[in-house]
Amino acid sequence: PLILGIESSCDETGVGVVRGTTLLANEVASSVAEHVRFGGVVPEVASRAHLQALLPTLRRAQETAGIDLSEIDGIAVTAGPGLMGALVVGLAAAKALAFALDKPLYGVNHLAGHVAVDLVEHGPLPQPCLALLVSGGHTSLLQVDDVARSITELGSTIDDAAGEAYDKVARLLSLPYPGGPHIDRAAADGDPTAIAFPRGLTSRRDLERHRFDFSFSGLKTSVARYVETAEAEGRPVPTADVAASFQEAVCDVLSAKAIDACAATGATDLLIGGGVAANRRLRELLAERAAAAGVRLRTPPPVLCTDNGAMIAALGSAVVTAGLPPSPLDLGADSRLPVSRICL
Ligand code: ATP
Ligand code: MG
Ligand code: FE
Repeated sequence: PLILGIESSCDETGVGVVRGTTLLANEVASSVAEHVRFGGVVPEVASRAHLQALLPTLRRAQETAGIDLSEIDGIAVTAGPGLMGALVVGLAAAKALAFALDKPLYGVNHLAGHVAVDLVEHGPLPQPCLALLVSGGHTSLLQVDDVARSITELGSTIDDAAGEAYDKVARLLSLPYPGGPHIDRAAADGDPTAIAFPRGLTSRRDLERHRFDFSFSGLKTSVARYVETAEAEGRPVPTADVAASFQEAVCDVLSAKAIDACAATGATDLLIGGGVAANRRLRELLAERAAAAGVRLRTPPPVLCTDNGAMIAALGSAVVTAGLPPSPLDLGADSRLPVSRICL
């Protein structure tokens, strides 16, 4: 099927076009520059930016894909989770298009989109498989039996998301927002063994109750203490070493638990998705550990890890291929949509 995908859950306005498992267009307009001076996404600013960017982005996607809107088989749109005011802009646009073109509408889950996107890079997902979802708002291990129909959460963060931890630690190190890519770069010049930061929920006792869960708030506090102490003692903060040691703690836990979940469930394929999946150290460490464990690893290219419209079009394509029914035109956005609700 030829599917148009619209994404507007946070600060990226994305429009993607996918035919089957082939990516035809992936246009993204980001309002991140408008949020930098606030150190985080301002919902009202994001909503207005979506309103301004949506039609130009749609037009560009149509041109890049070389299609006419009359040819499409369906319109997929992020129905949640995300910022309510941002979601409704994309949803309203998708409904208007569906109504005007008389095409079916598919309200889909943003998090399932982060998982589905790899199908445009490496073909249909192996099913069942395991997915490590690491983004700005979520961090979880998912059992994916069918990306269009059945995703079960095995575990998730009990406090901060991995991306949130990257962004908070970047702020402590006076690096710009969003901090993930800046820490990724700063860490390249640092020693990952310089500072022994804690690995959350990995003690024997914690593993009994939280084998597949994550915790990053203790790590963030530990970095804050380290930086405060250095400053109080008048020492320069070794930014590269702090970044590398923090990153090592995050990636060590993420990769160890993902591989352990594969062993526990018998999964032979592991997929990663979400903005933090663009991280170079995470990709490197997972590749090493997956190879050692005999697990096949699927990593989408970094541009498809952060928010985009292709991921929504890819999921829409899987949903239509599975023969699932379209959504009603009075569909509402759900800012807290759980990952198990893939298509509304
Ligand atoms: P969610 O998908 O949970 O709703 P989101 O859509 O805001 O949240 P994404 O766009 O998937 O999140 O990811 C953004 C996050 O990814 C930010 O926290 C950002 O710092 C982080 N990130 C991006 N690139 C990298 C990188 N190279 N290394 C580490 N983190 C990164
Ligand atoms: Mg973003
Ligand atoms: Fe996202």
